Amino acid sequence: MTQKKNLELHRDTLAVREAVERSQYGENSEALYLTSGYVQPNAESGARRFAGEEDGFTYGRYGNPTVASFEKRLAALEGAEACMSTASGMSAILMMCMGLLKAGDHVVCSQSMFGSTIKLIGTDLAKFGVTSSFVPQTDVAAWKAALTPNTKLFFAETPTNPLTEVCDIRALADLAHNAGALLCVDNCFATPALQRPMTLGADIVMHSGTKYLDGQGRVMAGALCASQEMVTKSFLPVLKSAGMTLAPFNAWVVLKGLETLDIRMQAQSARALALAQWLESHASVARVFYPGLASHPQHALAMAQQDGCGGAVLSFTVKGANPDEARSRAFHVLDSLQVMSLSTNLGDTKTLMAHPASTSHGRLTEEQRQAAGVVQGLIRVAVGLEHLGDIQADLDRGLSSF
Ligand SMILES: *Cc1c(COP(=O)(O)O)cnc(C)c1O
Repeated sequence: MTQKKNLELHRDTLAVREAVERSQYGENSEALYLTSGYVQPNAESGARRFAGEEDGFTYGRYGNPTVASFEKRLAALEGAEACMSTASGMSAILMMCMGLLKAGDHVVCSQSMFGSTIKLIGTDLAKFGVTSSFVPQTDVAAWKAALTPNTKLFFAETPTNPLTEVCDIRALADLAHNAGALLCVDNCFATPALQRPMTLGADIVMHSGTKYLDGQGRVMAGALCASQEMVTKSFLPVLKSAGMTLAPFNAWVVLKGLETLDIRMQAQSARALALAQWLESHASVARVFYPGLASHPQHALAMAQQDGCGGAVLSFTVKGANPDEARSRAFHVLDSLQVMSLSTNLGDTKTLMAHPASTSHGRLTEEQRQAAGVVQGLIRVAVGLEHLGDIQADLDRGLSSF
């Protein structure tokens, strides 16, 4: 039973109520359908379902009721017509590229995107004849200059990992559309709780459900939100033949995660802002990167685009006379942690800290790393729900003992 179509429900309500398909048992919590196949009512119906002419499930690689509930709920939160989920965030990007691009096409990408995204688009896709240009995320003129007659896709991530650079989604959407290209935004960091790129002109919103959508660090998941036509014509055929299907159990976890997304994002962002302000005044810290700080280069844009909220991830650099000293000091801070977790993941209720230069961005060349601004003294903090004083004390252990 989906909510009545004539009701205009708020996002907070949709996060809890959208796409609750109750079975004959009337369960209140969303059911978890663990099945790889489906019994067809008759051969004629089975044929129509396989041909896509009739609604109904046929095989686990193509669809599942629990997976469909997650997709509908995420689409509702993003303000999208439709959504197609995948086994991980990276496989969502692969699905998008396989569905929309062919040999000879060109992609313009932010140079400060997630490390594996840069690798997938810059290296793996190049083997299949898709070319790419990587530009400074915040420089609209650079995106424009990178356009070629074959440019089919702009791909941005805002705020970026790990430096929280914020790009103007509306400006990039206008530029892409004038050139006949599409804009995809990786919305992992802000989530639909803070930012809805499709309302600003983006054509596709990509998610790693592994992060804040789950929110408690349990499962891998990914998704693409887009028009119904793009999902049906471009993404579904890739899912059917390539099979990067989201597992029903994982879909159930992220479906339930969406119910608390907004309050988690608000609470974790409030802690992140307070921590960023404290770090900014710390004697051992060279610089803090957080969109909620007035010192952030795109502070005003971030506040307008992200519902006045900086998000839950911040980064900072420790002071150091040279890259070697900065690296060893960053390692000292991380190795001095007694409560918070040294982990490259993010989007957990547990605060996670990482050294991007040697982990998420470790596979990049030094040149790519420099372009992404990932220096050796950089530490990323994905702020969780612990008490702020305990997070500060844990960081201060290392920061005050160089
Ligand atoms: C984690 C992450 C991804 C990749 O998602 P997986 O679920 O790990 O495959 C992509 N983009 C951003 C910004 C991420 O943080």
